[in-house]
Amino acid sequence: MKTGQEYIESLKDLKTEVYFETAKIEPLVGHPLLQPHINAAAVTYDFAHDPLYEDLATTTSHLTGKKINRFTHIHQNKDDLVKKVKLLRLIAQQTGSCFQRCVGFDALNAVYSTTFDMDQKLGTDYHKRLVDYLLYVQENDLMIAGAMTDPKGDRGLGPSEQADPDLFVRIVEKNDKGIIIRGAKAHMTGMVNSHEMLIMPTGAMKDADKDYAVACAIPVDAPGIIHIFGRQTNDKRKFDEMDQGNTKYGIVGGECLTVLEDVFVPWNRVFMCGEYEFAGSLVERFATLHRQNYGGCKAGVSDVVTGATAAIAEYNGAAKASHIKDKLVEMIHLTETLYCCSIACSQEGGKLASGAYYPNALLGNVVKQNVTRYIYEIDRICQDIAGGFIATLPSEKDFNDEKLGGYIKKYFAGKADYPTEHRYRMARLIENMTGGTALVESMHGAGSPQAQRIMLLRSGNLLHKVKLAQKLAGITTDNLVK
Ligand code: SF4
Ligand code: FE
Repeated sequence: MKTGQEYIESLKDLKTEVYFETAKIEPLVGHPLLQPHINAAAVTYDFAHDPLYEDLATTTSHLTGKKINRFTHIHQNKDDLVKKVKLLRLIAQQTGSCFQRCVGFDALNAVYSTTFDMDQKLGTDYHKRLVDYLLYVQENDLMIAGAMTDPKGDRGLGPSEQADPDLFVRIVEKNDKGIIIRGAKAHMTGMVNSHEMLIMPTGAMKDADKDYAVACAIPVDAPGIIHIFGRQTNDKRKFDEMDQGNTKYGIVGGECLTVLEDVFVPWNRVFMCGEYEFAGSLVERFATLHRQNYGGCKAGVSDVVTGATAAIAEYNGAAKASHIKDKLVEMIHLTETLYCCSIACSQEGGKLASGAYYPNALLGNVVKQNVTRYIYEIDRICQDIAGGFIATLPSEKDFNDEKLGGYIKKYFAGKADYPTEHRYRMARLIENMTGGTALVESMHGAGSPQAQRIMLLRSGNLLHKVKLAQKLAGITTDNLVK
């Protein structure tokens, strides 16, 4: 198992092509735009070596019997599902940010069980290839970027109906050595600081979409791949210290657009190639596995936001007011509600045909639906208590300026027991954690709210509920609603 530092060192061997504002970012490690995200991912490695977290952060490989980092594991029981949620909450408490490695973790689990089902039904050998790949990932303790979301173009049209055929990743050639793929993957969390990406289709597909039903693994620096780094709220502040708010770990995951321009994938790394009828279940499994997480990582992030809110109330001299205490209670209640649901969907999980464990899909989707609402409420209360100055604070440069700094320290002071700098730093943390990019991530990360609602309708067993009501209402079985 790699340490955080070994993970960071291993990134230096890659030739990943990342662009920001037209320029290639070189070197990646140490660059202010990327380093916070690298630091956050490194925590997933360091936890495995920390006696305090070892029980959650490591486990035993079901393939080799060796001790491995949990982020490379296939869930073998309900305990694994629960430990995943607990681990994510603890890491998020330390980073206050997305640490990105769960996407690939979930992708490995989704592709593992789906390839098993494919081989059972079709007689293919995808599962064996995936197991070989998993051994490689576990042996080298790799960080995998789960690559699902296609750009999608006209949302009213399917992959093969688009004006531009590349708006979903597709197979453009097959030969005796492998396949060549083209297209792009959007909003790629952790991609630029991963070792490999695991590509999956973005949704259910029809016969006409065969060329788009592709799952495969490739190094993030394979020939033909470029990554265009996304903007975040106040990202230029990463070049400053205090102004960034969360200096070490940044906001969310450092997302990018990954362009795949005729990329070769050898057959031993291809896990789906045209079997469109399995695209839907692969997507559904990945989605549920990732939605399961959000009551873990977002609860951990909310723990930090709640702590920041209590601290700023104290710096402001308002901590004793009863309405402040009540609002803090509300934040705790909402956070624990998110967490409860993640634990529940894990406990209610079950075994798939492959032997891998999988969370309860209905409850997993409730987790994420809750996150699209409760994080906004938690952040709303935080901003309510913090006060408007989180949006009007002068810059760090002015704070430290010989002429201006004195005025800022004097007029932004709160309770005299604390230096203004503490109030300033906490305000910046709150601005960072409750601002634009962080909120959008809670809304759309792991799928937009409507995607969960579709799953809720599908798994909610509405007809069963209708029958319950009809029975109590004394309506005969002849007249059941269909
Ligand atoms: Fe992991 Fe949460 Fe980030 Fe998703 S949003 S990668 S679950 S930390
Ligand atoms: Fe996310």
